[in-house]
Amino acid sequence: MSAVEPGRCGENWADCPTLAPQDSFDFACAGCGDCCRKRRDLVLSGYDLYRIARRLWLSPRIVASAFCKSYVAEVSCLPALRLTPDPKTGNCRFFEGSACAIHAARPLACALYPLGQSIDTVTAKMEYYVQTPLCGARAGESRTLQSYLDDAAITDRAGVDARWAIVCTQISRRLQAAGGAANPHFSAAVKRVERALYFDYDLGDEFYPQFQQNIEILLPLLDKILK
Ligand code: SF4
Ligand code: SF4
Repeated sequence: MSAVEPGRCGENWADCPTLAPQDSFDFACAGCGDCCRKRRDLVLSGYDLYRIARRLWLSPRIVASAFCKSYVAEVSCLPALRLTPDPKTGNCRFFEGSACAIHAARPLACALYPLGQSIDTVTAKMEYYVQTPLCGARAGESRTLQSYLDDAAITDRAGVDARWAIVCTQISRRLQAAGGAANPHFSAAVKRVERALYFDYDLGDEFYPQFQQNIEILLPLLDKILK
């Protein structure tokens, strides 16, 4: 089973060509900042939130309450966080001047653009897709997928992102199997999942060991809550 992210402009990644590491695609960011304007589709993973929190040196919970809207995804039943735009401009609130104020800690979706990523939640195999570039396409300025992923530091985080996709699928199945929102303990379960996925992280320690520990505690607890 694959978790396929839809393209920003509604393109279906499944219809886009898959890239192998040494395949080239035409793209060079022109630095215009348009992808940070009027953007409402930035869903954060727990690792995205942790990285932003560490960059700002504010707790994940404070960053979430200041910059995000929380919601429960209808189909997966999972709690999720979306970056909220500036109410006056509609732009991302980390867009300052003409640049990203948190560039090194920008969310995966920003680092990936214009690529899409899918993760097989059984094998952890990742695939990358390129949508028709909406910007920055220039003949003769092609680059390989591997160099793009390396330069955007996506290679470094791929293991965490794969584990995140697998764990979220496991939790989603448990919530769905328990009846989803119809379960009388659903709200309590979602709050506990949100803590484990997004909030219970000490910024002085690395994300991944804390994530693993949170999930080890969460899974048996979830079964008890949802009974
Ligand atoms: S990715 Fe595209 S829209 Fe975003 S800054 Fe670069 S050229 Fe502009
Ligand atoms: S987080 Fe940074 S790169 Fe992403 S939309 Fe906001 S300003 Fe742009």
